[in-house]
Amino acid sequence: MTDAPLWAGIVGQERATALLRRALAQDRVAHAYAFLGPAGVGRRLTALAFAQALLCAKGGCGRCPACRRVAAGQHLDCRVVAPTPPRDKPRGPAAIRIEDVRELQHWAALVPHEGPRKIFVLDDADRMTLPTAQALLKTLEEPPPRTVLVVILANPRALPPTVLSRCQQVRFRPLGEEELAGILGARGLEAAASRRLARRSRGQIGLALTADLAADDAREAAALELLRMPLARQAARLDEAGLDRDRATVAQYFEIYWFWCRDALCLQAGGTAALLVHAEREAELRAVAARVPRAALVRALAAVKEAWLGLEGNVTPRLALERALVDLGAVAA
Ligand SMILES: [Zn+2]
Repeated sequence: MTDAPLWAGIVGQERATALLRRALAQDRVAHAYAFLGPAGVGRRLTALAFAQALLCAKGGCGRCPACRRVAAGQHLDCRVVAPTPPRDKPRGPAAIRIEDVRELQHWAALVPHEGPRKIFVLDDADRMTLPTAQALLKTLEEPPPRTVLVVILANPRALPPTVLSRCQQVRFRPLGEEELAGILGARGLEAAASRRLARRSRGQIGLALTADLAADDAREAAALELLRMPLARQAARLDEAGLDRDRATVAQYFEIYWFWCRDALCLQAGGTAALLVHAEREAELRAVAARVPRAALVRALAAVKEAWLGLEGNVTPRLALERALVDLGAVAA
């Protein structure tokens, strides 16, 4: 079997890719796989490499029309479904919907268009409602012939155990900070920037490779500045910056705030600067750690988490952010 070039682009997941390639080589491909691991470590790329290997006459050459169509998301026998907002609420929370699973069932019942098999990928399947998961379970209980299902998710507990137990589990690991910095360095990034990016992306190579350090810095500065503003000014800023409806940016703010509180707690507990996510702001964090009582930091951390979960549910970005800001004022630099 020739080597699919996409496999070569998957870094640090040798155990996962070896398992899949062994199944291909022995012609013992399972009906369903669960790719478990954090976002940004190569789960989706691996699913596409696997699809190429399954659909290409040469085992995934990477060059033929079939391989190219898989990579471009245009192969008729390969579908990738990711969470989408409700049809009637384009700004609502994204999820994999029961219609998606019904489409899978319908699609799986058809004979493959081109190749010997069909492959269906559910990306970010953590965001799946219970009725959707139950519908998926039905499909897994009577797997359609010649169809391979790949469910990609970060948290195994996001799905009922009955669903996972019917999938072969393939684990993906986060990369170590050193390891990731080394990879970034090998791609030509200078050493200090590699280390910063590696730390900030916390082992998620996909995040590191697509990151825009300048934009990240600007967002971090804006998020932390918001904490220092009086309440009335904060409300005006939410409007000016369009944050009142910007779910994605508010989620990024919550991530910044969460690690900010966590870093301050880490310093209070005697942790070193090497453990900080916001390492470039060590001096500010030390001041916060010295001034803010532990209980207030813990409260702020909990408030961010609660607001973040609300944002992933049905709470509007504005309300979620305003709620979190009430407790976050105390931890401003
Ligand atoms: Zn090919």
